[in-house]
Order: sequence, then structure tokens, then C-alpha cells
Amino acid sequence: MFDTLSGNLGSVFDRLRGRGALSEADVREAMREIRVALLEADVALPVARDFINRVTEKAVGAAVLKSVKPGQQVVKIVNDELVAMLGGDDAGAADAAPLNLDVRPPAVVMMVGLQGSGKTTSTAKIGKLLKEKQGKKVLMASLDVNRPAAQEQLKVLGEQVQIATLPIIPGQQPVDIARRALEAARLQNVDVLMLDTAGRLHVDAALMAEMKAVAAVATPAEVLLVVDALTGQDAVNVAQNFSDEVPLTGVVLTRMDGDARGGAALSMRAVTGKPIKFAGTGEKLDAIERFHPARVADRILGMGDVVSLVERAAEVIDKEEAEKAAQRMMKGQFDMNDLRMQLNQMQKMGGLGMLAGMMPGMKKAKAAMEASGVNDKVLVHMDAIIGSMTPKERARPELLNAKRKKRVAAGSGTSVQDVNKLLKMHQEMGRAMKQIRKMGGIKGLASLLG
Ligand code: GDP
Repeated sequence: MFDTLSGNLGSVFDRLRGRGALSEADVREAMREIRVALLEADVALPVARDFINRVTEKAVGAAVLKSVKPGQQVVKIVNDELVAMLGGDDAGAADAAPLNLDVRPPAVVMMVGLQGSGKTTSTAKIGKLLKEKQGKKVLMASLDVNRPAAQEQLKVLGEQVQIATLPIIPGQQPVDIARRALEAARLQNVDVLMLDTAGRLHVDAALMAEMKAVAAVATPAEVLLVVDALTGQDAVNVAQNFSDEVPLTGVVLTRMDGDARGGAALSMRAVTGKPIKFAGTGEKLDAIERFHPARVADRILGMGDVVSLVERAAEVIDKEEAEKAAQRMMKGQFDMNDLRMQLNQMQKMGGLGMLAGMMPGMKKAKAAMEASGVNDKVLVHMDAIIGSMTPKERARPELLNAKRKKRVAAGSGTSVQDVNKLLKMHQEMGRAMKQIRKMGGIKGLASLLG
């Protein structure tokens, strides 16, 4: 996500921070570079221009230029304006729900968008979030009678996320399906009814008329437009066209996982006035995130999104296991089983790439790791190596002599060199833990970090 922009801004910032004093000319030069970086990221021209004007106005002030760390201050101003450009924090405070479902149930969430934007997938993803995170009873209904098998597709996704879907009646028209869905939702005491509407290849009059007719019947609490981030400014134009016709309450930006530029995410709010409420980050049905402007800005500026990382860790990590492992480590008993657990957790959290995008300074570390041949495949190899060890070897890796190493390598389809690398990594981690223990354990470490 945002790799290009992040890289370009990073080098501008490194130069700014590297200087003790800044002149107005220095700031203006940096702004020119930032403007180019934004345009390369496919940010809409007027949006980039406004952004630069606002930052410049604040940054050339005497208070900034005469401060102790002017570079740092300019970076902060860019950060704040970036948050504002991405929609401020009004897409919901950190733990408030992004959707306004505070209506008499069933609250209707209407999903609209062009064909192939990821509408059906996002419907199931959001349904799953509402069910699992907020304990809502959800019903989903597909109103897409244009694309053959669209209704069937939602049904299959519903089975995967264990959410009921409205039974399909062949030949029924969208407005009638919406009525039937509402009735079913009332009868079944459903909290949230998700309506997956029909898409088209382009925005056209017939589609808009259908959306309006459905909205009139369903009186949705939320109308979410699904757009594909990879289409850049087209996504923003589609959003503009839709919002002229139907009262959108927010945007779901899909395929953020493949979007290195970020133009749609950066321009959406400024151009359409609509907040991005969710970001789709993959094909799997849990690959969706709340869109937090401040966190996204941190990611773009390479400061890492530690908050999201910790949240994700809390979701995938088995707390009891982790605590047991931590205690063992503190006693200096970090064996191969513990290492394996850590590797598995890294994979569950989305592998090295995902971690790198979220941790401060990790983008550079990731590049270094990749240069030395560490990647997600290596995590899988390491798991296979540990899997080929006997329980005794796992508990006491020092048992691994040349002969045993050969056997483990053969068993895991790797080489003795790979086995050695893993053993070295384990040793180094063990050493690091000893160091932490000497400093007074985790508490000592925490106090060091402030
Ligand atoms: P619809 O025609 O708008 O209903 O689109 P679908 O929901 O059928 O999605 C089209 C394709 O995009 C499917 O293969 C999805 O798996 C994929 N897709 C949807 N959202 C995302 C996303 O956030 N990231 C990625 N990589 N793929 C996605």
C-alpha cells in the first residue's frame, strides 16, 4: 500500500530532517518535491495543489523556521495535513463504529458500485465484521438480477461466513426482492440487512433509476459505494457520479492490497466529500479494515501503523500460549517449539510484508531482509525444518550434530545451510532474551523504552 508515495516522501523527509536550519527556499523546494510525489501517486491535481498551499502556508512561518528542529516540524505539518486530506478522524474515533446503525432495526446497509469492484465480496466481509465484532444478527440479500449467478455467489459467501441469505426466487425484480428482504428481516428479528445491489460496467441512467427505486423502498441507514482503488482517479469519478444521484454515506475502497500509488484513497474525501469507511485488503473474507485516516497517514509517512499492528496481534495471538512462551523465555528456556510458535504467529499476522507496512522503520528493514534472502517462503521453510526435528531435538537443539542436520534438511526439503541459518537465528534470539533478562526482564525493558 502506498509504497511509491511512501518511498518518495521518505527521501524528501530524510533530507529535511538531516538539516539543522531551514530557509524558506529550502521549504519551498521540499514542497515542490512533495507535489511531484503526490502527482506521481495519482492524486487529483487540485487536491495536490491545495495540500501544498496549506502546508507551505504553515511551514514558512517564523515559528517553524526558527524552531530547534525545523525539519521535524515540517514533517509534522505534512502529517497533519495528510490526515485531513484522508478525511480527518471523522470516519469514526478509534473504537467507535464507522457505520451509523442506530435506527429501528432492521438497519439497512445498501451496497452499490460498478461490476467487478468487489461489491459482493465486501458485502460478505462487512456482514462478517458486524456479526463477529458487534454481535449483530445479519441477513444478506442480492438484488443483482443482471449478472447470472450473482445471487448464487452471495449465497455461497453467506455459507462461508455463516450468515443467512434471502432465499432466491428466480425472476423477481430488485425492488420486490428488497421488499421481501425487509419483511424477512423484520420477521426474523434481524439487526442489519445488507442489500447487495446490481452493478453495471458503467454508470448509466438505468442503474441510477434502479438504485433510487431500491433506496426509496429500503430507506437505508447506510449507502456504501464500493470502488476499486486500482482504478485511481476513475474510482473518484465514479464516486462523484454516484453521489450526484444517490445519497452515499461512505465509500469502501477495495484492492488496497495491490495499490502502490494510493491516488484514490488520497483524493476521495477532498473531491467527493464522502468518507472512506473501509479498505479491502485481499480476497479472503477477513481482509477488510476500518479506514483510520491518522493511521493510514502514519503508514504513508513510514512511521508505521503500530496501533493496527497491536490490534491485529491481539486478534490472532493465543494469549495463554504467548504468556507461557514469555515466561519460558524469561527463564532462558526458549526452545524450537517456542520459535515455531513465533514463526506461525508472524504468518498468521500476514507475513513479513504486512508487518513491514505497519511497523515503524520496517520498510527499510524489510528491504534489507529481502536482499539477504529472507521472505515469506523462508518462514514456511523454517516451519518445515522444525517440523522435521524430533521432540528431543526441538527441546534441545544443541543435539543437532552434522548427521542429524542432514536428516532434518532432507526431511524438510531444505539444505543443511538452511538448518544452520535457523539454528543461528534461534541462538541470536536466545542471546537477545538473556540481555533483556539482565536488564530486569520485560519490565526493565519497558521502563527503558519509556
Ligand atoms: P462485484 O462484481 O462488485 O460483486 O465484485 P466481486 O465481489 O465479485 O469481486 C470481484 C473480484 O475481486 C473477486 O475475485 C474478489 O475476490 C476480488 N476482490 C474483492 N475485494 C478485494 C480486495 O480488497 N483485494 C483483492 N486483492 N481482491 C478483491
